Amino acid sequence: MQQFKRMECGRFRAVSQGLCIGGNAHGISGSLAPEVRFLPVRLAIRAFCAVSAQAIRVSLSILAIVVLSASIAGAQQAAPESLQTQTPQPAPKPATPPSAPRFMVVLDAAHGGDDAGGRFGSLAEKDLTLALSVRLRSLLAARGFAVVTTRESDATVAPERRAEIANHAAAQACLSLHATQTGSGVHMFVSSLAPQDPAHIAAWKTAQSAWVTRSLALEGALNSALLQAGMNVTLGRTALPSLDSMVCPAVAFEFAPASTEKGQKPTTALDDPAYQAKLAEALAAGLLAWQAEARQP
Ligand SMILES: [Zn+2]
Repeated sequence: MQQFKRMECGRFRAVSQGLCIGGNAHGISGSLAPEVRFLPVRLAIRAFCAVSAQAIRVSLSILAIVVLSASIAGAQQAAPESLQTQTPQPAPKPATPPSAPRFMVVLDAAHGGDDAGGRFGSLAEKDLTLALSVRLRSLLAARGFAVVTTRESDATVAPERRAEIANHAAAQACLSLHATQTGSGVHMFVSSLAPQDPAHIAAWKTAQSAWVTRSLALEGALNSALLQAGMNVTLGRTALPSLDSMVCPAVAFEFAPASTEKGQKPTTALDDPAYQAKLAEALAAGLLAWQAEARQP
């Protein structure tokens, strides 16, 4: 019996063993020959094994179909992804470069308040310099400059205070504006201090010595623009308390009445709005050139 069970149910031991035990428990026995007595059991076992094998074959087939279907479904899902990776993607936007700090210009309208400066008939120098400062400030602001002025009204401002304002602004250009009845056209001055190494720590009233070289370069940029505008320009050096204390490229700009023709007596008044507008335009052009030069690596 045990041998028979092993022979018939060798492939599906767990299931057939139960059945074989059951068959035996039903007491199929008697006087019949062993082949006859066990024939129904044998047939049942064969039928069962055949059915089981068929069932397992079917199950395996279903499993294979399920696995195959899953693979196909996975491939179908992966396909759009792979296609997507092949689709040209828009180039990532470059990080917005940090905007350059605004170019700072200090306009110092000389004189003011108790200090009228020069007197030219009914005109006072302090009013002429303030008018040019206000006009130039508007032009520079419209061109994107940051502008700091030492005064916006008829106020008294000490020379030391003017230098303090300019130095606090950390300006890339400082213009001290003056007017005169003497001569014609434009006079520009750079500090008469001897140039010093920028690493040299200078006293307050000689601080400009470390900037004289840059001040001369600024003067050159302004001179080119003024000449381009047809101005008659005279260059020089001078000692001015406010200018000498500034730690930035600094130029004293003085305008005299303009002459219509070189060598002729000046005919354009200092307070002529058209003349002042022409001066402001030329200075703004010079500062734009200076800005471009200063920002070159
Ligand atoms: Zn003056």
